[in-house]
Amino acid sequence: MSADPRLAALVDRADRLYRDYRLSSVRDWKARTGGLAVGYMPIYVPRELLHAQGVLPVGLMGGRDDLEIIKGDAYYQSYICHIPRSTIELGLNGSLDCLDGMLFPAICDVIRNLSGMWQMLFPGMLVRYLDVPQNFDRDLGGRFYRDDLEQLARDLAARGAAPLDADALRHSISLYNEDRRLVRELYALRGRAPWKVPTHELYMVLRAALVLPVEESTALFRTYLELVTHDDTRKPLDQARVLLTGSFCEQPSIGLIRTLERAGCYIVDDDFVQIHRFIQSDIPVDGDPVENLVVAFLTDAMASPTRYVETGVKGDDLIRRAEEGGAEGILFCAASFCDPALLDQPMLVKAVERRGFPWTAFKFSENSGQFQVIREQAGTFADSIKLWSGA
Ligand code: SF4
Repeated sequence: MSADPRLAALVDRADRLYRDYRLSSVRDWKARTGGLAVGYMPIYVPRELLHAQGVLPVGLMGGRDDLEIIKGDAYYQSYICHIPRSTIELGLNGSLDCLDGMLFPAICDVIRNLSGMWQMLFPGMLVRYLDVPQNFDRDLGGRFYRDDLEQLARDLAARGAAPLDADALRHSISLYNEDRRLVRELYALRGRAPWKVPTHELYMVLRAALVLPVEESTALFRTYLELVTHDDTRKPLDQARVLLTGSFCEQPSIGLIRTLERAGCYIVDDDFVQIHRFIQSDIPVDGDPVENLVVAFLTDAMASPTRYVETGVKGDDLIRRAEEGGAEGILFCAASFCDPALLDQPMLVKAVERRGFPWTAFKFSENSGQFQVIREQAGTFADSIKLWSGA
């Protein structure tokens, strides 16, 4: 907790945005601007392109533990993850009816199937499966991705968005560069002083930003960064520094994140709400801006289980992040039945063990409400790090 009422008010606003299934802020934006709003699923879509065409990109990450699934379960077999059920539920119960379109990035078969279902269930909506390349050669995967982006721009324009304009796209790229820079700063501050930036709070701010126009999300990040930087009321605790990985798509509940923190873990790096960091550095604004988006995706995207590793081996990036972030242990925290995360996990465990990092693993569902077992597991893990790591 912080004694600063400005910080409390900001977190309260973020919490309300995060909990608002009906996307009131998006509805307000549409009423104010008359623009289109297009939802997107994890992990990555080129939000700059949508913004340049006057479209509001709206990040959707499924439900929480308080969303009652009435119809969503009927659309899926029991042995897959939870996020498509809650997304369908939100679609069918009208929560997402302010959206003019939905983008489904190519990350797994579940999302691919969800895009097909969305086309059948909501025929009036623009629905695009964004087939991002797994070949990172500029003349092959790059050309393919560019065609994909240009087609998307035409589809949006056909729905009433502004035609794609190079200068508008350069401006949008510069806005998102600033947005990402602030998120990198927040992550860096949390790495240095995790007691100043509790992960459950940072997470809420990152989630809130998904439904805001970039101009507002940047202001939110900037204010939050200023407030937590200068807040001296939060004091360090003797907690274990851990890197949490595996939660790049379906997200754990705030309750689970708090549980890990209360069990003695400082989360110093994670995979949450990765869209804010997926492109790791500034995208150039001069030259051909569409090509700049393409090259950024090909050469500067985060390593992910949903992305082919062209050079090196699986786990290199995880080890680099753990070492640079000063992590003392690794928490593998994947959604139940998440094929991309769970199929990568044995390779990542090997990499982690080669470097001598202690690790533990558990699975979650976005609607899990009971954390006692995870609390005991994470608490034991944190204690063992403090007792035996020599830290
Ligand atoms: S949680 Fe995993 S399996 Fe489920 S939709 Fe996301 S990436 Fe696919």
